[in-house]
Amino acid sequence: MIELRQICKSFGKNVVLNGVDLTVGAHQVVGLIGPSGSGKSTLLRCINLLEPVDSGTVHVGGVDLTAGGVDADQVRRRIGIVFQSFNLFPHLSILDNVTLAPRRVKGVSKVQAEAEAHSLLTRFGLGEKALSYPDRLSGGQQQRVAIVRALAMEPEVMLFDEVTSALDPELVGEVLSVVKELAKSGMTLVLATHEMGFCRDVADRVAFLSDGRIIEEGPPAQLFGEPQQLETQQFLRRVIEAGRL
Ligand code: ADP
Ligand code: MG
Repeated sequence: MIELRQICKSFGKNVVLNGVDLTVGAHQVVGLIGPSGSGKSTLLRCINLLEPVDSGTVHVGGVDLTAGGVDADQVRRRIGIVFQSFNLFPHLSILDNVTLAPRRVKGVSKVQAEAEAHSLLTRFGLGEKALSYPDRLSGGQQQRVAIVRALAMEPEVMLFDEVTSALDPELVGEVLSVVKELAKSGMTLVLATHEMGFCRDVADRVAFLSDGRIIEEGPPAQLFGEPQQLETQQFLRRVIEAGRL
């Protein structure tokens, strides 16, 4: 579903991605872990063309997104992304936040967009909140709405960038269960996360990034249990010492 080949990306002299190869099969869940600044967010942003790559290729569903003449908006319809900060529109109700893009970008009718939004909101325990405004919701609820908003575009792939990092600890679980439910439903997911325990549970494969390269990747039991590379071992030791695994 996603195939990255030799992705390179620099900001000025700062080489942020240095030849990344990554393959994600349909219905697979791939976790991206690694120190802060290792390039996880940039990698996700390159997948849906929020950042242009300097070199290398990005294929999604067999289409080369890095070929000239690709319509970036078209691409982003197929690839949902959710960030750490929810970025809901504060002046719009939850329902309007969720229906905005399907109506404006996909031209779905108001009636149909609202019916689909209600069904998604209900699926994720937010049915009662449709007419509320974002500031009346907890951070966890807002983040769930942000996920629903991305799902309303019916993407083939979802990218999650540290979606629980801005939440109070007691609200992390409800957002992780949404991600887990999506994983179970067969959605193709790539998630950058600090939640190592969660990553181990939900991911089919985990890739460890450091300095813009994938140092090691494998099934979670192997990567977390028997990391082969020194850098991975050192990173996981720090994570364990911090009580995060
Ligand atoms: P991670 O998500 O693993 O913490 P990032 O992809 O956010 O890593 O960042 C990797 C590096 O790229 C960092 O050094 C960061 O400062 C730099 N970087 C990210 N985005 C930009 C940008 N838009 N402009 C300049 N530098 C950036
Ligand atoms: Mg990041």
